[in-house]
Amino acid sequence: MSAIEIPKDILSTSADASLHGEVRSEVLLHACCAPCSSAIVEWLLAHGIRPTIFYYNPNIYPREEYEIRKQESKRHAESLGLQWIDGDYDHEQWQHDVCGLEGEPERGRRCELCFTLRLTATALKAQELGLTWFTTTLASSRWKSIEQITCAGQAAEAAVPGTRFWAQNWRKGGLYERRNQLLHEYNFYNQQYCGCEFSMRKDEGSKMKDEGSKMKDER
Ligand code: SF4
Repeated sequence: MSAIEIPKDILSTSADASLHGEVRSEVLLHACCAPCSSAIVEWLLAHGIRPTIFYYNPNIYPREEYEIRKQESKRHAESLGLQWIDGDYDHEQWQHDVCGLEGEPERGRRCELCFTLRLTATALKAQELGLTWFTTTLASSRWKSIEQITCAGQAAEAAVPGTRFWAQNWRKGGLYERRNQLLHEYNFYNQQYCGCEFSMRKDEGSKMKDEGSKMKDER
């Protein structure tokens, strides 16, 4: 892979405003996958903020899919010399936690709980590492509710003393478009569903045929 050039305009994206003059030199970044991490990590590094990447996604099913996404996240972090932490994978526990919410639609109560579980684990990891700030790449997907992610992050922050959730809409300021560029530049594996078995579409094959590359770029 050739060296990836950081576009100059990424330094002046609107995400800047979220810093509110506070100094954040390190952050624990919960990563759902490599494509969603790519532009955020680039932006953080361009702003002098070093992310430690925490891969914690027990929601992903099946295990083979989980391993592929995990290896891609690791490959991404290693290519930039960043610390990458492997969270536990206990899908049975996750299923137990969301029991009763299987029939909920995406953006429903199951997703709310799924975000809270993952961000609480991230806050606990931040506390263990002595880091104050944590944030998540979940907030870069237009398929997810930014309000649900913010509520989950705030709940995690409240549950884990000494941590603070960096609520940020990582889709804005050109980062979403940059994510799609980096997806191709790194040649990342790009999943076709959110993660859990309930988000797999029954008509996956025909849907993918219909939507082609548009879907590939957006998940
Ligand atoms: S659809 Fe995605 S966010 Fe919602 S419960 Fe499943 S894996 Fe979690």
